[in-house]
Amino acid sequence: MSIRSNIEAVQEKIARAATLAGRKPEDVTMVAVTKTVDSAAAREVMQAGVLELGENRVQSFLDKYDVLGDEPNWHIIGHLQTNKVKYVVGKVKLIHSVDSVHLAEEISKKAQALGICQDVLFQFNISGEASKSGEAAESAEAIFEELAKLRGISVQGLMTMAPLMAEEYEIKKVFSGLRELSEKISTRQYPNAEMKYLSMGMSGDFEAAISEGANLVRIGSALFK
Ligand SMILES: *Cc1c(COP(=O)(O)O)cnc(C)c1O
Repeated sequence: MSIRSNIEAVQEKIARAATLAGRKPEDVTMVAVTKTVDSAAAREVMQAGVLELGENRVQSFLDKYDVLGDEPNWHIIGHLQTNKVKYVVGKVKLIHSVDSVHLAEEISKKAQALGICQDVLFQFNISGEASKSGEAAESAEAIFEELAKLRGISVQGLMTMAPLMAEEYEIKKVFSGLRELSEKISTRQYPNAEMKYLSMGMSGDFEAAISEGANLVRIGSALFK
């Protein structure tokens, strides 16, 4: 199987899941997660027409950024250490994995120093698994009141990860939980928070995520098998 045909197969499934959910296929954007492959493979993804590329580690992002530059839209999807913020702000379109107010503050500071505003998503741990990053949904209001003070970021939505090994209904409960949280936050009209994106769903569960409202899905292994 080639990368191109894998991409087409996944995009067809995305379209089908969107249609089944009563949504338009073009409302769901696929981020190709290139963390396990090299720049040459990432370039193949771009040549197949996918310009949204996701990386979970800063070094792996920088290695590819050296080669591919600004042509793709870069997404940081993995836990970001505050001391690595300076390497990504201004270079990436969206940081999905902002999992604490402290990290948001560091991103905001760096963005302001560059005279830009960095788009981010805030990550919640809806499943409650200890192994997952992200804040508890119960803390959302206190968090967004703090985020509202930050001038260097614009919160564009929310991100979560479902448990890897779980029943379909449990997975869907996590995804619908994030959607409900974003609806709640949306009614509060925080000044720098727009609930535009729900980043949820990976190779194993993107169809369930789309059925619960995902409009950004992060797909890795299904493209590179
Ligand atoms: C690796 C990764 C993905 C993609 O996972 P696959 O199962 O390979 O599709 C999505 N999101 C995050 C945060 C990841 O680290």
